[in-house]
Amino acid sequence: METATIWEKCLKAINDKVGGSVFELWFEPIKLKQIKDDHVVVEIPNRFYKEWIEENYSEIIQNAFREQTGQELSVKYRIAEKQDKEIKKFDARINSRRRALRSKGVFLNPKYTFEEFIAGPSNQFAHAAAMKVTEAPGRAYNPFFIYGGVGLGKTHLINAIGNRVIDSMPNFRVLYVPSEQFTNEVVAAIRHDKMGELKDKYRNVDLLLLDDVQFIANKTQTQEEFFHTFNALYEQQKQIVISSDRSPKDISDITDRLKSRFTMGLIADIQLPSVETKMAILFKKAEYQRIRIPQDVAYWLAMKIQSNIRELEGCLIKLAAHSTLTGVPITLDMAKNVLKDFLHDDERPLTVEIIQKIVADFYGIRFQELKTRKRTKEIALPRQIAMYISREHTDLSLNDIGKNFGGKDHATVIYACRQIDKRRNSDESFNRIIESLVKKIKG
Ligand code: ADP
Ligand code: MG
Repeated sequence: METATIWEKCLKAINDKVGGSVFELWFEPIKLKQIKDDHVVVEIPNRFYKEWIEENYSEIIQNAFREQTGQELSVKYRIAEKQDKEIKKFDARINSRRRALRSKGVFLNPKYTFEEFIAGPSNQFAHAAAMKVTEAPGRAYNPFFIYGGVGLGKTHLINAIGNRVIDSMPNFRVLYVPSEQFTNEVVAAIRHDKMGELKDKYRNVDLLLLDDVQFIANKTQTQEEFFHTFNALYEQQKQIVISSDRSPKDISDITDRLKSRFTMGLIADIQLPSVETKMAILFKKAEYQRIRIPQDVAYWLAMKIQSNIRELEGCLIKLAAHSTLTGVPITLDMAKNVLKDFLHDDERPLTVEIIQKIVADFYGIRFQELKTRKRTKEIALPRQIAMYISREHTDLSLNDIGKNFGGKDHATVIYACRQIDKRRNSDESFNRIIESLVKKIKG
C-alpha cells in the first residue's frame, strides 16, 4: 500500500472513533511522512499538538496503524514548525534529566517538581507535609499517605518528593512505581519464580513512592507482597509514600492489616482547588509553555472546569494549539468558541463526577459504589452507563475515564460502551432512559 493510502485509511478509522470536532482540531493537521520497517514518522504542527497527541491519542494512532498495516509500528512525532530556542533548551534539559534518572532505574517525571507545584488552601497541608518528608525521609511522617480525586496533583506531588530527594541526597535509592506496575511485577515474579528478585528490588530502597494504591484492592497476592515490603522498609526506617484516590478507610477490598499500616503515619488529603488556585496553576502552566493567556480567559476556565486540573491544562493546550495554527490570539470569545464542543453549550461543564452522581441517583445507589469492583447487576449496569455517558459527553481519554471509576483499564471502558450501545440499538425503552439521563446531566 502507498503511504498516502495507508494514512487516509488510518485517518478514516480515527475519525470513526473520535468523531467531529476532535478529529478536525487534532487529526486533520497531521501528516504521515515516512513508513519504515519498525516505525512511522508523523508530522504535527507544533509542540502543543505533540504534547496533547502523545498524552491523549497516541494509542488510537498506534492502533490505527496496526489495523491498517498489520504491523506493530512505533509512532514518532516530528514538529513541523521551527522551535523556539528557549523551549528547545528547556526540553533538552528535561529530556537529559529523564534519561539520567532512567539510567539509574528511576522512573520519575522530571517535570513534576515542587517548583512547578502551586500550593493553595486545597492542597496546602499535603504540600507542606510532602516538603517536610524530603527534609528527613523516614523520620518525619512514615508512611505519608496522600489521597484526593483524579487530576488533583497526587502524582505530581509524590514525584516532586522523589525529584527533590534525588537532588539533595544523590546516594538515596528512590523507587517510584504506579501500583498497576507493582501488581504486574508481582504477577510476573510469581509466574517466573522470581520472587527473590522482586524482594531485592523493593526492599532495598530508601524511599518508595507507590502511586494509586487503590489499584491493589482485591488483589490478594499483591497486597500480601506489599504488606511484607512495607514492614521491611518501615522497620529500617525507610520512607514510604503512598497515594490513593480515596482515604484508607474508603478503600474496600483491602486487608485490614494493610489499612492499619496506611494510617500509622500521616494522612493528607487534596481537595478541590479554589478558583484562585486554579487560575494560579493555569498561569504557571502557561508560563511553562510560553502561552499568553489573558486574565479573563483564565478566570472563565477556572470557573468552568471544576474538579480536574488535568482537564484545565488540556483546555489551555487546546487553545494554544488552535491559536498557533490559525494565528488568532487567545481571547475570551475565541476560547468560548474553540472549547464549546468540549465544554458543552450550556454553561455547565460535564464532569465524570456529575455523571456518576446523576446515574447513581437514578438507580438508587451511592455514587462511590460505581468506583468499586462490585460486579452485581445493581452496580454493573449503572457503572457501564456512567462510563458510556462519560465517553460520549466529556473529552477524557478512555484511560482517564477508567481511572475515575476506581482504576479500571481502558478495555473495561470500551467494553462498557459497546454493551450500552448495543442495548440502546435494540431496546427503545432503555434508549429513552439514557436520553433522559443525559438530559438531566446537561440541565
Ligand atoms: P492525580 O495524580 O491526582 O490524578 P496529577 O498529579 O497527575 O493528578 O495532576 C494532573 C495534572 O495537573 C498534572 O499535569 C499536574 O502537573 C497538574 N497539577 C495538579 N495540581 C497542581 C498544582 N497544585 N500545581 C501545579 N500543577 C498541578
Ligand atoms: Mg495520578
